[in-house]
Amino acid sequence: MTRSQRIKELIPLSMALEYYGVKYNGGRIPCPIHQGKHNNFSIKNNIYTCFSQCGTGSVIDFVMLMESTDFKHAVDILDKRYNLCLQDIKSSREQIIRQKENREKIARLKNSIDKLYNKFCYYSRLFEGIIAKERPSSFDNMSGIYLLALQEHTTLNHYLDSLFFNRLNVLNEEKFRDILFYFNDGKKYLKRLEDKINEYR
Ligand SMILES: [Zn+2]
Repeated sequence: MTRSQRIKELIPLSMALEYYGVKYNGGRIPCPIHQGKHNNFSIKNNIYTCFSQCGTGSVIDFVMLMESTDFKHAVDILDKRYNLCLQDIKSSREQIIRQKENREKIARLKNSIDKLYNKFCYYSRLFEGIIAKERPSSFDNMSGIYLLALQEHTTLNHYLDSLFFNRLNVLNEEKFRDILFYFNDGKKYLKRLEDKINEYR
């Protein structure tokens, strides 16, 4: 059974009318859709009929006309308005597809993070080596690459830690956006760093 079928079954038109401030206790009343003055509107078997100009329809058709919206949106409105939390078969199929896409997206990100992590490891080791080897005898004869290593080493390790942490968390779908942000930020930092290193090569 689809969501719209469930809604037609679960929501009495009289209840939908009440939302718009119209009471219906049987018989005929002025039509709330075209807001007529004469008693042209009645409900039978949860189908309304307006004998003036609006024709007949379900609770969904009613909300479509009252809200000037399309079928799908009217279904959403009713689902939310009465807290039904319904899902039709089609949307759960879409959900499965979405979940699959998410898993693939996460796997790709994990792969990219691993590669970036390895690059950060490489530069961290490189800087540690430079700091150890090129320790200057005085403040005045520090080489450019030594200064760079000294300056960037802490930041580099900070990124390394956060990438390591994000590698562990990457399967957590809720954190995907945050992780993607850290990843892109790390990538930008690495690009800037590589540019600086290249100046000394
Ligand atoms: Zn009408």
